[in-house]
Amino acid sequence: MQQPSLLIWKAFVDEDLCVGCGKCTEVCGTGAIRIADKKAVVDFNRCICCAICVRTCPRGAIRIVPYSFPILQREEEGDLDEIKAQLKGIRAQLGEMERSIEEL
Ligand code: SF4
Ligand code: SF4
Repeated sequence: MQQPSLLIWKAFVDEDLCVGCGKCTEVCGTGAIRIADKKAVVDFNRCICCAICVRTCPRGAIRIVPYSFPILQREEEGDLDEIKAQLKGIRAQLGEMERSIEEL
């Protein structure tokens, strides 16, 4: 059976366009972007999809793309705690997104 997933949105860097200027790392409020080998890299676990980096990049190298977040299924008793932890993480991300939107 296919594993269920939640569709959320994340920043994605087009390496062909990125020149490694670092402007996106300066504006990202969650520290989700770093420069590695002269290219910006997004940590999907930290990205809250506020899109500030998209507006900041002078090269148009960052886009918001759909990201499929796997949801664990409960197969054993211990899995429930992990599912709860995942949902808590998603809830925190949604809260961050709300705050970012309010600040716009
Ligand atoms: S602002 Fe754009 S070009 Fe500069 S490092 Fe970030 S993604 Fe690359
Ligand atoms: S969308 Fe927001 S949180 Fe995600 S990498 Fe860009 S600035 Fe950071």
